[in-house]
Amino acid sequence: MLLVQKYGGTSVANVDRIKAVAERVDKTIKEGHKVVVVVSAMAGETDKLINLAHQISSNPSEREMDLLLSSGERITSSLTAMAIKELGHKAIALTGRQTGIVTDAVHTKAKIERITADRVKRALEENYVVVIAGFQGITETDDVTTLGRGGSDLSAVAIAHALNADLCEIYTDVDGVYTADPRIVQDARKLDRISYEEMLELASLGSKVLQTRSVEFAMKYNVPVVVRSSFNYNPGTLVTKEDKEMEKVVVSGIAHDVNQAKITVMGVPDKPGIAARLFKKIADANIVVDMIVQNISIDGKATDISFTVPKTDSKKTLKITEEIAKELGARAVDLREDIAKVSIVGVGMRTHSGVAAQMFDALARHGINIMAISTSEIKVSCLIDAKFTELAVRVLHETFGLAAI
Ligand code: ADP
Ligand code: ASP
Ligand code: MG
Repeated sequence: MLLVQKYGGTSVANVDRIKAVAERVDKTIKEGHKVVVVVSAMAGETDKLINLAHQISSNPSEREMDLLLSSGERITSSLTAMAIKELGHKAIALTGRQTGIVTDAVHTKAKIERITADRVKRALEENYVVVIAGFQGITETDDVTTLGRGGSDLSAVAIAHALNADLCEIYTDVDGVYTADPRIVQDARKLDRISYEEMLELASLGSKVLQTRSVEFAMKYNVPVVVRSSFNYNPGTLVTKEDKEMEKVVVSGIAHDVNQAKITVMGVPDKPGIAARLFKKIADANIVVDMIVQNISIDGKATDISFTVPKTDSKKTLKITEEIAKELGARAVDLREDIAKVSIVGVGMRTHSGVAAQMFDALARHGINIMAISTSEIKVSCLIDAKFTELAVRVLHETFGLAAI
């Protein structure tokens, strides 16, 4: 089999961990497989680099930011290749560019357009273990790009697809995908399997065990993905196509996200075209808006619009919103960062009613106020005060009976 193995930050956090990765690769080869390794930067390295940049500029150029951040993964790819060589295998480290990962030019959150991987294929034919620096690509005009936080997951899935690999293994610091973040809910249960759709919802609603775009990619191209731990040999969680069995479970998991900010525009005239103008400007700045709530206006009077954006984009969004608010004659704009979104996810919700009501009731019983709600066929999300995040996750986990039996 051809396996793509991705090792996250904690799995390559220091020299000993990198040696442990090499040993696992060695074991995999001895089992008769070919291996392509994709690595993240050492744990904390990307944050450290971002911090350095912000000590120099409050608004560093995104092009230079990408070049800077891509260095973290270059370090681990070179070191990992060296460690694999030490165990007697042929190994070669490649950057995103050398792998032929071509992206668009949206710096810091570039999208992959194509992967040539010629050099990877050649190296594999010559029995090399190929170690690829994750998280990065190159534009048509030769600028380095990065794929958004957690983007090495996407590198791995996309490379697995480009190479037609048999499996993409995502090695991390937990045994697999759990019914809730195991760091918050102690009796969270590991799932043996989860559908692409549920995983996509969980990821986009804040479960960072897999990057959202990597799941989107895996689902689109049907790439089989397994999430497992690099610290033990326990079986992980298979992310795969939905089947009938999965529908029996109403709620599969709870997600939470504390990385959102809420912006409220107060006193907006209630007439057609206002929302279109505001949200077009925000979209043009490549900012993704999540929840939107507009209060009902009485007799065409002014109304309020609230929406959420990633915290990392909150200042930029605030500026844009304030400009438009002025043009529109709105009364005021308010930014709140102490909010959280808690969500329940499950394909079984399609065929069960009353699930949302059960969620609202559970939160209400614990005195947790809901600021906004959004739903889809397979999820319900509530915006709450950030100080209640952990309580809300635990309460919902219990309400829907997700604990380990
Ligand atoms: P890596 O550095 O390996 O990419 P991440 O920190 O990005 O690892 O993702 C793993 C983390 O995801 C875990 O340590 C865990 O705290 C968190 N997590 C959040 N939700 C879940 C979940 N439902 N199941 C498993 N892990 C989760
Ligand atoms: N090093 C990058 C980050 O911290 C990419 C990754 O780890 O997947 O976001
Ligand atoms: Mg990650």
